[in-house]
Amino acid sequence: MWTSLKAQLLEVGTVKLTGADATEYESKSTAGPGAGGRGSVFFSYEGHRVRLAVAEDSPITIRHIGGGTVMLTYGCIEVLGKLEKPGSHCPGQAYITISGSCIYHCRYCPVPGNAAPTKSIDEIVTLVKNAGDIHAISLTSGVVGTVEEEEKRALDAVLALKQFNLPIGVSIYPVAGTAQRLHEAGAGEVKFNLETATPELFKEMCPGMDRDLINAELDEAVTLFGKNHVFTNLIFGLGETDDEMKAAIDEVCRRGIIPTLRPFSPAADLKDLPRPGFKRFMNLYKHHRAALAANGLDTAKAETMCIACTGCDMVPGLD
Ligand code: SF4
Repeated sequence: MWTSLKAQLLEVGTVKLTGADATEYESKSTAGPGAGGRGSVFFSYEGHRVRLAVAEDSPITIRHIGGGTVMLTYGCIEVLGKLEKPGSHCPGQAYITISGSCIYHCRYCPVPGNAAPTKSIDEIVTLVKNAGDIHAISLTSGVVGTVEEEEKRALDAVLALKQFNLPIGVSIYPVAGTAQRLHEAGAGEVKFNLETATPELFKEMCPGMDRDLINAELDEAVTLFGKNHVFTNLIFGLGETDDEMKAAIDEVCRRGIIPTLRPFSPAADLKDLPRPGFKRFMNLYKHHRAALAANGLDTAKAETMCIACTGCDMVPGLD
């Protein structure tokens, strides 16, 4: 039941909040789908989780009864669940955006338009100290200045965060040797995002970025961090076909990389493109599940970032 419910909720992607004040359950983020928007909530049901952006005009309603207990209503669906406290960005993790702005302009990404500042190492350490009950630290970033400068910020942050003795995941745009340097600094997992199903679409969506380099660093990362600890976002809904997305899933799984299948979320240049529909979610979920199993990949072993969170995506093995 959960898989089908989550696909229906993610197809919409938003929720209207009613009932008792739920401010303490709302997360305002500069990363992930909906970055820079009004905020989002994490609805959980029987140990599963979905993140929905808060929007007054949503057809999905969450009525806060009190203490985090909520009734979710969507058409004839009614489910009693909980809202989770987001901690620092997402439940159970301090997921911190180092630089909230970017020199690149991926056509679907709201980050360059947000122009949020770059955090100092002291600010990052303080955020982790204040994050409450967490089991992991995750870092992501836009690119401010040069890619090398941004990598240096991430490395410095990893070194400063080792004091917490928690697994640290890092998702940045790499240069040659990034995987090796992050491994030496003490990161436990990495995510380098291929973003699109095909190189042609990547060229169109992410001008100026080097997909070959991302691929090379992903392969190097698997040798350093091991299977189940290297990830890549593949966004569906950008104009690729199902066959193209399935081929991309097969290819990265064969190389020991777990793909995060991220539904396209209208933003930036592509704000008028629709989100993918329910059938596509389910179809790709089934293929994703089979490809992970065929290659001995286990999402339950992921400790950080989006696969461990599951908020925005369908994650076979956890959903
Ligand atoms: S799935 Fe990733 S982007 Fe979404 S809330 Fe979780 S950590 Fe953030």
